[in-house]
Amino acid sequence: MRYVSTRGQAPVLNFEQAMLSGLARDGGLYLPETIPAFRGLRDLDGLPYEEVAFRVIRPFTGDSFTDDELRGAIDRAYARIEHTAKAPLRQLAPGHHLLELFHGPTLAFKDFAMQLIAQLFQIALKRSGQKITIVGATSGDTGSAAIEAFKGIDNVDVFIMFPHGRVSDVQRRQMTTPDAANVHALAVTGHFDDCQARLKDLFNDHAFRDQVGLAGVNSINWARVVAQIVYYFTACASLGMRDTDFTVPTGNFGDIFAGSIARAMGLPIRRLIVATNQNDILHRALTTGEYRVGTVEPSISPSMDIQVSSNFERALYLAYGGDAAAVAQIMDELKHGGFTISQGALQALREQYLSGRVSEDETLAMIRTIRAETGEILCPHSAVGVAVARQHVEPGVPMVTLATAHPAKFPDAVEAAIGVRPPLPPHMAGLFDLAERVTRVENDVQALKSLILDRRTQ
Ligand SMILES: *Cc1c(COP(=O)(O)O)cnc(C)c1O
Repeated sequence: MRYVSTRGQAPVLNFEQAMLSGLARDGGLYLPETIPAFRGLRDLDGLPYEEVAFRVIRPFTGDSFTDDELRGAIDRAYARIEHTAKAPLRQLAPGHHLLELFHGPTLAFKDFAMQLIAQLFQIALKRSGQKITIVGATSGDTGSAAIEAFKGIDNVDVFIMFPHGRVSDVQRRQMTTPDAANVHALAVTGHFDDCQARLKDLFNDHAFRDQVGLAGVNSINWARVVAQIVYYFTACASLGMRDTDFTVPTGNFGDIFAGSIARAMGLPIRRLIVATNQNDILHRALTTGEYRVGTVEPSISPSMDIQVSSNFERALYLAYGGDAAAVAQIMDELKHGGFTISQGALQALREQYLSGRVSEDETLAMIRTIRAETGEILCPHSAVGVAVARQHVEPGVPMVTLATAHPAKFPDAVEAAIGVRPPLPPHMAGLFDLAERVTRVENDVQALKSLILDRRTQ
């Protein structure tokens, strides 16, 4: 399996190389040259999650890992998810299901990909003897998942930038309390988009990149997208492999893009619906064809508070029919505030995705409604998804909304909605008793570089 950059100017890589590099050297994102068709959809019902994961992921990894290596990595990764089904489906209403992706060690869907790629990194680095420095930007959940997955892993240092004061206490503590020497939480002055922009600066400095062996585990890393394809398959298998709609609370477009790959592999996904909060650049882009960056408005669903949605570049690349030059051109325009999607590409995107946006009040109201109707407590991101999904449910077609985090990860928002603070699950009960370790840093690439050079343990 060969991987090409969305901007067409970076070397073609195999799976392992694409995974270890994260962002392509031309600033683009890696995609497989062709999407493999999945054979054996009807055989999946009742299989363990790990077995479905192996069958779905295997075609993407090519000769980068042996079958035994891949199976071992999958088994170790998902042993840490505290539910036998791993991604259980729970019914909310007739025809509407919640896909619970929050039973992992940091209570958000990010664990599904991060736990697996930590195992795959470990195998690859052991084989090559290479040492790397992972730098990530997070609005909260990616960072906690990365620190949890990579803590104590040999040959790797992990630096995670998060926007100071803009993540929940649970998210911050999940990043600052692990005491392994190879993980470093950095509180950056600014928003998530600032963290993401500094991350791109670091990657685009090729001398620094080579000096520290820079690797990325943000959702732009293709290996993460691959891991997220799996639960679309297990959900469809549970629902009898018939046409199914999915609504996905969306920020960086990684999770929903995984859904579009699942569909391209042959899974019977009918509609994929992008759900956004008030930071609705994706909804506006799909509605008007204008991708215009505004300012981030902090919300109660902070993991979706972004204006530059990185993985959308992959969707654009496919919508432009693989025209890397056109993608490079509009990404250049993005540096100056935005771009207009061509008519043809917009039509192609609309064939792939519907979208909806909900306000803060509607999100709080949906947490209340679902509590009253079912007794379930939703996290604010999942509530955005459920609210958009309810606008699109059609009789006869099951709707699945991805529940992207556990409500206890966002207790303030939940309390504002229903007056109750959801308790942390037992495996995390001690989180608020542990000491925190965090470094404040300015929104400045030079400051970051010296910090990273100074703190590396490898
Ligand atoms: C990361 C995240 C999202 C957004 O997912 P993307 O793949 O970035 O679109 C939504 N909800 C939660 C809880 C998240 O952590």
